[in-house]
Amino acid sequence: MDYYDQHVHTDFSFDSDEKMAAYLKLAGENFVSTEHLDFKAKDDKSGDDLFDYDAYSREIKRLEKESGKHIFKGVEIGYFAGREADIHAYLKQHAFDIKLLSFHRSAEYDFSDNMISQMDPLEVTDKYYRLMWKGINAFHDADVLAHFDYGVRNLNLTSGMFETTAGVLLANILKLAVRYNMAFELNTTSMYKYHNIGLYDYAIEIYKQLGGKRYTIGSDAHEANSYMNNYENAVEMLKAHDIHHVNVYRKNAMVVVPLDDVDEGIKY
Ligand SMILES: [Zn+2]
Repeated sequence: MDYYDQHVHTDFSFDSDEKMAAYLKLAGENFVSTEHLDFKAKDDKSGDDLFDYDAYSREIKRLEKESGKHIFKGVEIGYFAGREADIHAYLKQHAFDIKLLSFHRSAEYDFSDNMISQMDPLEVTDKYYRLMWKGINAFHDADVLAHFDYGVRNLNLTSGMFETTAGVLLANILKLAVRYNMAFELNTTSMYKYHNIGLYDYAIEIYKQLGGKRYTIGSDAHEANSYMNNYENAVEMLKAHDIHHVNVYRKNAMVVVPLDDVDEGIKY
């Protein structure tokens, strides 16, 4: 089996207009989308960013029939402090093949907001990883820790600055991820669009040293032409860290796909 992108958004996510069918034209035998589930503050007038699970399931069924491909169901859980019960309740009621755990927003702002660049980068970094520590304790049954660097994408931190500010926190977070078998995501948007390759080199090594053995590669595509973006580069990075497999998720199963000879990978 070949690897396929484990972080993809379609128009079921609030911030994508892309049809699932457009991705399917590019996909092999297997495809998964990971749609946003973002609960916000209860008094936030913009409302929670959820998606219509029933419509999502119907569209998958329709496209499976039409294309003959396997389509898996995924969710990107955007942790929000204070909404843990609602997130747990949603996940209990809706089945997914893969659950990504992400950290996008604090009570005051989304970490990708422009205002972040006006703030003290070390303060933002500290705040972001404290939030992640809180959230991963609540949701370590997710499959994947997605873009661990989302909150610092725009801060231009050197690995040294990062380590001084967040090194201890991140090590504790990754320790928990390893303990609960969560995969580490190589998010190619972070790595190549936001130039955070250095932070990925740093974090992969810590995760690996702590005994972490699961890795996914996700483009974080919001449109079909970003599907599998920079996949080969991410593979090269894993190999440079002496890691020779990636992982694929489907319900109650985690598949190891060897990188050295992907075509000779696990067959079904
Ligand atoms: Zn995403």
